[in-house]
Amino acid sequence: RIVYVNGEYVQESDAKISVFDRGFLFADGVYEVTSVLEGKLIDFDGHLRRLRRSLVELAMTIPCPDEELLSIHRELVARNAVVEGLVYLQVTRGAADRDFAFPKNVPQTLVLFTQAKSIVDSPLAKRGARVVSVDDLRWGRRDIKTVQLLYPSMAKMIAQEKGADDAWLVQDGLVTEGTSNNAYIVTQDGTIVTRDLSSDILAGITRAAVLKCARELQMKVEERPFSIAEALTAREAFTTSATGFVCPVVEIDGTALSDGNPGAVAVRLRQAYIEESLKAAI
Ligand code: PMP
Repeated sequence: RIVYVNGEYVQESDAKISVFDRGFLFADGVYEVTSVLEGKLIDFDGHLRRLRRSLVELAMTIPCPDEELLSIHRELVARNAVVEGLVYLQVTRGAADRDFAFPKNVPQTLVLFTQAKSIVDSPLAKRGARVVSVDDLRWGRRDIKTVQLLYPSMAKMIAQEKGADDAWLVQDGLVTEGTSNNAYIVTQDGTIVTRDLSSDILAGITRAAVLKCARELQMKVEERPFSIAEALTAREAFTTSATGFVCPVVEIDGTALSDGNPGAVAVRLRQAYIEESLKAAI
């Protein structure tokens, strides 16, 4: 695989990052994941906008102009012949002597790579995911997409040990989001409920696109927190993320929702999102 590191395209085995890189030592970096369908980038502008925001929040600079970031994405997709999958981008504060204070005048590290993956024909989306609730013990700035992903990894392992696919994180009795996705329920009267945006959750790019689809389809949307108890009374549930699109959730903490099959709203939104995002793909 060809990867991009600080201005160069190299074989992954030749890629080098300093052991002093603050991404490695402090998780001092941010990332974005953009999905690729039919060789094209999905929601690229949204991911770039969020990247800029994450960088600003951490007092980091923009690594290079938007046009250049787009051409690096395209070049990697082409060089690795990715038809379906993702492009991962990471920016760190760079390499400097280990010190908690941010270093000055250090060049940032910019890394991108691709991963081929089937997203449209996902077995998990077809079957529907089983989730379990896990305490949300992450830090308080989840609106920034940092590479500090240890707790979500631990939560995913707790879920797998319980025979589930993923965890829904719970803070003060209310669901924040999944380990790497936004969480939704559909109430018995057909209303889509998902937590409102704040520093408690990541503002998903897929979330914005899917809520837009839902409103265009005249579905009712409420942005507010919900509890696991409320979720257990829901007609259906689902998650959204760049690499999972809309993924139905069929079981929460061992209890099946409705008949235990993917719900109609989730299935419809998944289809609508794929169609709409392909139309706008670049
Ligand atoms: N929440 C968290 C914690 C995530 O890691 C992700 C995926 N990066 C999302 C939500 C979904 O965001 P997006 O739709 O932009 O992939």
